[in-house]
Amino acid sequence: MSFHVTAPTVQETDDLIVSSLVSHGTDVEEPAPGEYVVKPYAKEYVFCTKKKVPKVGVMLVGLGGNNGSSFAGMIMANKHKVKWMTKRGEMSANFYGSLTQATTIRLGKCGEKDVHIPFKNVLPMVEPTDLAIGGWDINNMPLGDAMRRAQVFDFELQNELYKYMQPIVPLPSIYDPDYVAANQEERANNVITLPTKQAKLEKVREDMRNFKKEHNLDTLVILWTANTERFSEITEGIHDTADNLLKGIKNNEKEISPSTMFAVAAILEGNPFINGSPQNTLVPGVVELALRHQVFISGADFKTGQTKIKSVLTDFLVSSGLKPRSIVSYNHLGNNDGANLSAAKTFKSKETSKMHVVDDIFLSNPVLYPNPEKDQPDHCIVIKYIPFVQDSKRAMDEYSSEICMGGLNTIVLHNTCEDSLLAIPVMLDLVVLTELFTRIRIGERSGKTEKGHDAMKPLPSSKASLLDGVEMFSFHPLLGAILGFLLKAPMFPKGVPVVNSLFKQRQCLENLLRACRGLNTRTCIGLNKMYSAIQIGEEDRKKIGK
Ligand code: NAD
Repeated sequence: MSFHVTAPTVQETDDLIVSSLVSHGTDVEEPAPGEYVVKPYAKEYVFCTKKKVPKVGVMLVGLGGNNGSSFAGMIMANKHKVKWMTKRGEMSANFYGSLTQATTIRLGKCGEKDVHIPFKNVLPMVEPTDLAIGGWDINNMPLGDAMRRAQVFDFELQNELYKYMQPIVPLPSIYDPDYVAANQEERANNVITLPTKQAKLEKVREDMRNFKKEHNLDTLVILWTANTERFSEITEGIHDTADNLLKGIKNNEKEISPSTMFAVAAILEGNPFINGSPQNTLVPGVVELALRHQVFISGADFKTGQTKIKSVLTDFLVSSGLKPRSIVSYNHLGNNDGANLSAAKTFKSKETSKMHVVDDIFLSNPVLYPNPEKDQPDHCIVIKYIPFVQDSKRAMDEYSSEICMGGLNTIVLHNTCEDSLLAIPVMLDLVVLTELFTRIRIGERSGKTEKGHDAMKPLPSSKASLLDGVEMFSFHPLLGAILGFLLKAPMFPKGVPVVNSLFKQRQCLENLLRACRGLNTRTCIGLNKMYSAIQIGEEDRKKIGK
């Protein structure tokens, strides 16, 4: 499916798509408490996207786990167009649950009908089946066997995939038992035994370089999908700056976690890093290092089941003027993630990442929550390990809200599904979009573009005249603001307010891609469409004689 945008605000050359867009916003000042002065403004932004999709690879930390092996299986199954029988009939490989591969965006109206195109066609994106896959795991099981151990895929699908999966074997990884539950010890038969943190860092950097060379890659993305770690204790002099962090690794500091080591290695090699687990991998020193080396980082924690629903349901309640007073979320699961989360220290990381997903929604409604500090609803998260249910996680939630005139509304949800099958399309989207963003530059016409920390690699000049006089920069390395739809606890650049509402997050991402392609950005329903829906049409006017 292809399309062209014909407008003076869009120029395509052989290798670039350049577009400009006037965006309207409002600045608000508060000269006295509770008194606001609103100043609408318009700014013209210019976007430039390189069209050529490079050769892309992804290395997963935790490759042999449920997510890791299922991710590889999903890619292989789609690549080899695998079909398999189940008691519900024949199934074929797909990417259901992926924003980029299984959703659409609206192009506009063609005659009487609305035209929608696949999300992945808005801008050139890497084909998932072209991704090279590799990575590390503290367990040495080849991926065919790891897939069987995970018990995520149907039995016949496992049989079909085994021959494609078994040749993939995880590389030895950096392991520190202090960061995960004690019950993970028995898995750890594939660890880097070098004596110092510095030597381990150099080893995984070498692994990244070797993988890139072996697969002839232009771009490599590193994705942490290994066990949830406990939080690191952030200490001044160790985690606070890039230099201190690098010095800390040299000094073999205990409190630098394996995931932080992988983030540092990725950045030093110029590879984007995504943290799919809840722990505080991206300590301030990592963020500074990413700024210094102009490498994308994002996290934390894939947003899959319960949290996704929570950010939708809470948004619905609060935006309808109903007042949630308590949200209670129970989970039980029986996979290795559940076993690891049964330790208090790792559960704490997960609890923290799940706790704050709705805070900004409450803060956005001072009518319901005039005193947000005291008024926040009760919010509780419980996770239990029940081996029998394996990867088929149960999530049960109760939302109690105050409604009109002292009434009470209680909503109870029960959600059961294979946890990893919700996570792997999200992992794919994070990789696909992160790679795409490495090819986009943005500039502001006539306005000033901040230099220094936020300023990133300029793009080579082009024949496209829309670029004339505009300095173009890459995005801020912390991609949380754009990838929030896919992350439970998205990290935003300093001073940018966090947005958790799921549909706002999706709109933000869609608008960015639309702007890069020269399509109008959408807020919700387009005003033109709304107008045609509420005006009395010509035919009806004739009927009533006006
Ligand atoms: P898993 O336990 O099946 O897999 C984790 C893998 O990481 C294991 O194979 C383990 O051996 C390996 N590992 C542990 N420490 C390692 C290290 N230092 N280096 C390399 N490998 C290491 O868990 P999973 O179900 O695949 O989940 C992975 C992570 O994703 C967890 O942190 C989980 O909380 C997070 N997550 C999962 C979902 C979901 O829906 N499945 C959603 C959000 C976040």
